[in-house]
Amino acid sequence: MSKHISITAGIIGITTVAILGFKPISRTISEMVKLAPVEQNVLGVIYQQRAAEYRALCFQAYNIAMSKIDNAAKSKKTAKLAVITDLDETAIDNSGYAVRCYNEEHGYTDDSWNKWCNDAVADSVPGSVTFFKYADKKGVTIFYVSNRSNAALTKTMENMKRLGFPQVSEEHFKLKTTTSSKEERRREIAKNYKIVALLGDNLVDMDAAFDKAPENVRQHAADSLRMVWGDRYIVFPNATYGDWENALYMDYRKAHPEAKSISPDSVYAIRVRALKQY
Ligand SMILES: [Mg+2]
Repeated sequence: MSKHISITAGIIGITTVAILGFKPISRTISEMVKLAPVEQNVLGVIYQQRAAEYRALCFQAYNIAMSKIDNAAKSKKTAKLAVITDLDETAIDNSGYAVRCYNEEHGYTDDSWNKWCNDAVADSVPGSVTFFKYADKKGVTIFYVSNRSNAALTKTMENMKRLGFPQVSEEHFKLKTTTSSKEERRREIAKNYKIVALLGDNLVDMDAAFDKAPENVRQHAADSLRMVWGDRYIVFPNATYGDWENALYMDYRKAHPEAKSISPDSVYAIRVRALKQY
């Protein structure tokens, strides 16, 4: 199928959905193309909210993390043990934010995300609270290393306390201040702790090799680290967003340096072109 036909098929699909009444049918074709990326997110969000497979993957990841703690606790070394974890889509489930965006017919925006954080109504990822309570009971220090803005700290802690997470106090949080790279924050922690495992849904949560990396570099780094996944680095599923997606738009941004953000119709076209053809 040619790229042109693929895009046309996408438009026809969206039109069909509109005709079936899931969305207002008064949209123009250009409006539908602009909303296509929002519509495309739906299946990923449903996977997160409804798929037993999603839950199983999360439990699987936390089971591995638990065994890492057990093994570390058995060693006779006296180093203080720590776990480094990302928050969003690793410990905290923000699929409700994705649904909110869908209902409001837009993609991610800083304003809507900040409002979501301030509402403090996110859920927990399956298995997360149980695991972190276990780590806490075993005397492991937890570091919540997230690229949520430091301005969101109070509301994030309020949300997590309500969900039952342990060690929810400022010294356990390292949110984003100047840089989105987490490497400096990880090194700071490693000065005083033996890091048992790093948990995240985005590979930048574990290793600087993925920081701002294009797709081919990410894939090569993932292959190079093949023995570390499920060992020191523990990965969670996220089919709705992440640097895996941002990497798709990097070339477009390089070609359009004036564009601070990508228009929805460009996002849609880039996604369609990103499909591997066989
Ligand atoms: Mg995350």
